[in-house]
Amino acid sequence: MLIVATHNSHKTGEMKKILGDLFPEITDLTSIPGLQPPVEDGETFSANSAIKALAASRDQPAAFILADDSGLEVDALGGAPGIYSSRYAGENASDAENREKLLAEMEGETNRTARFRCVVVIARGGEIIGEFDGAVEGRIAESMSGEGGFGYDPVFTPDGHDLSFGELSEEIKNGMSHRARALAKFREWWEKNKATQQG
Ligand code: IMP
Repeated sequence: MLIVATHNSHKTGEMKKILGDLFPEITDLTSIPGLQPPVEDGETFSANSAIKALAASRDQPAAFILADDSGLEVDALGGAPGIYSSRYAGENASDAENREKLLAEMEGETNRTARFRCVVVIARGGEIIGEFDGAVEGRIAESMSGEGGFGYDPVFTPDGHDLSFGELSEEIKNGMSHRARALAKFREWWEKNKATQQG
């Protein structure tokens, strides 16, 4: 069994679509009600991903725990919102509020290049046993479009496409996203190491 260290059902859904053939049972922290989410006070995606994985792994030492920390880096904003992507418009900001703030900050800006980044770590027995990263380049749209995905998907247009991640199909997003690319590296590692890891 694989536990994804998140309460974000969209992330878990994407993980299931991408890794479902490797792990028939994938669950997340919504199935462990007593577990408090840790404070994500790391300064990098890698550090925050490790914080989430280790907190869950200490609670569930026998399970494989997969954590993802991800966010959007906008060049014209000096890399913001970056690790603060989920709370860009404030501590308990909604996805819609974060998107609105981003579009307001980008109003009139001609340099719209940006990328999503993701760092995935796998932990077991309270230790990190692997780390994998992925990114997808694109640009910030002038306005929101599409209902699909989550977070900044309706305002991010990946390179090679004219539609946002909010408009593109799940299959297309999951074939090229930052998360898919990090998970492809994880898949390769798992295929090589599963015999020793599961033993
Ligand atoms: P985390 O859950 O602490 O890693 O925060 C990640 C935040 O980055 C999310 O709340 C979203 O705002 C944003 N984000 C990460 N991945 C994606 C994605 O695939 N699409 C849209 N937004 C994303």
